[in-house]
Amino acid sequence: MVPISIEAFVNKHCKNNPEENPNQLRKDLKQAVKDKKNGETCFNCGQEIWAIGSAVAYQSCFSCLTGEADSSEDYEINEVCWS
Ligand SMILES: [Zn+2]
Repeated sequence: MVPISIEAFVNKHCKNNPEENPNQLRKDLKQAVKDKKNGETCFNCGQEIWAIGSAVAYQSCFSCLTGEADSSEDYEINEVCWS
């Protein structure tokens, strides 16, 4: 995955989604990062969660959220971008 900072992602996402509340998104991302660090897993398949997807949608892994296996071009928050 492509590492990105929380701030950079919030800016990017809110530009594309003007109705999104940056403060809420930042808070959700911090929580998702914390959850991933704590080893939170996908409720569906048991893989580790995707912090960005979990903040934007619901707590799940990349494959279950997007239906794609290839995550090489998708963003993940830098502190938890280890796969
Ligand atoms: Zn999953």
